[in-house]
Amino acid sequence: MNENAVKVLPYKITLKRDGLPLSDKKSSPGVVNQRSCPYYGARWILAPIKNTLHIIHSPIGCAFYGQNVRKKRYTIISTDIQEADVVYGGEKKLYNTIIESHKELGGEAIFVYITCVPALIGDNIERISRDAEDILRIPVIPVFCPGFCGYHQSKGHEIAMKALFRLIKEGEFKKEFKDKLVVNIIGEYNVCNETKVIKDLLNKLGIEVIATFTGDCSVEDVKNSKNAKLNLVHCRRTGKYIANYMEDRYDIPQLKVSFIGLRNTKKSLMDIAKFFGIEDRARDVIKEEFEKIKDELEFYIKKLKGKKVGMFMGASKIGILTSAFKDLGMEVVSVGSQFGSFEDYLDAYINVDDNTILVDDASKIDLELIFKHKKPDIFVGGTKEKYMALKFGIPFLSFPQDFYPFTGFIGFLNFAREVYKAIYHPIWRMIEFKY
Ligand code: SF4
Repeated sequence: MNENAVKVLPYKITLKRDGLPLSDKKSSPGVVNQRSCPYYGARWILAPIKNTLHIIHSPIGCAFYGQNVRKKRYTIISTDIQEADVVYGGEKKLYNTIIESHKELGGEAIFVYITCVPALIGDNIERISRDAEDILRIPVIPVFCPGFCGYHQSKGHEIAMKALFRLIKEGEFKKEFKDKLVVNIIGEYNVCNETKVIKDLLNKLGIEVIATFTGDCSVEDVKNSKNAKLNLVHCRRTGKYIANYMEDRYDIPQLKVSFIGLRNTKKSLMDIAKFFGIEDRARDVIKEEFEKIKDELEFYIKKLKGKKVGMFMGASKIGILTSAFKDLGMEVVSVGSQFGSFEDYLDAYINVDDNTILVDDASKIDLELIFKHKKPDIFVGGTKEKYMALKFGIPFLSFPQDFYPFTGFIGFLNFAREVYKAIYHPIWRMIEFKY
């Protein structure tokens, strides 16, 4: 049993007013939790960058694990480390793999991930990357992310974001951006076309996006990103490394925004507009966009008001989603994350009631207890939680989302519709669950 979670469960209950849950701690030995390793965390950040090649210096298992990221499958190359490589070293194999893969597949930059085995045998990935770079004349960037370098995926997010500093440094300040309202979006991963929705909204304000880290960017965009006038931080947990780096090095201010939820979207647009001195334009856009969704949204709010929701997901979205559910008039009865930080729980804390359970790094047993004791009308989470909830007869909403963007006004309507569809699905009238 997870000792962090025990503190908030019914048999030893800690209510919200008693404080935030212990977070960012090592998992208890023996507990099967929902976390993944730093290598996979690094894959989540770097996988979407366009025109790049990803070499995984690893046994084949790590590579298999790292090809699916946010439900999308990516082409990756593994060095397929075998016993002989462990004994004699895998550097030559890595070098040949980089050169041959680039010959076959091309790419404007190469990321080379070091996993547990080559890190333990001491392969010098930095030297090999430099040697390959001399031949290929494109950036070959080592990503040091063996599974043992941290106790959850968040360490990999940090390593991967920091690996991008080099590309940012190599970029140039360009005249073409000088007189434009240009921003970067940092910590947005474009799972179901969210980036397009956000960009469309910003374009209506006359603002252009240079790079979206990393859901919608190329190597060129990353290099150009230092030309932005403002960095919009969508996911603080993963985005802070790049945003802080650009603030310290290039004096680019950062603004925490969220385009998930009605109040969040309105507030973010107004905050951005205030920065650029275009508040009137923002008010018009907000009015116009809200008008488009108003009538349908009213129906969903009527149907969903007072319904109970539980959630367990990646760290930084817990605060954002609690606020979005509040916009729908729903009651959040439990909030959990695989690797939430103190700030993440604080963001959620301000949106929930006194008897809401806040739990970090919950195990399967912890989640079952939450299902039994809080009886949510819907549960929100990832694939690992989905079938557990359904077996308990609890409607489920996948997050990250499966089909439609949840960002902006249109995204909020999608979100409301998906929640409504899950709760009111006819199947729940046909099955009776007792637990
Ligand atoms: S923990 Fe190590 S061996 Fe396992 S997938 Fe991660 S990098 Fe590979």
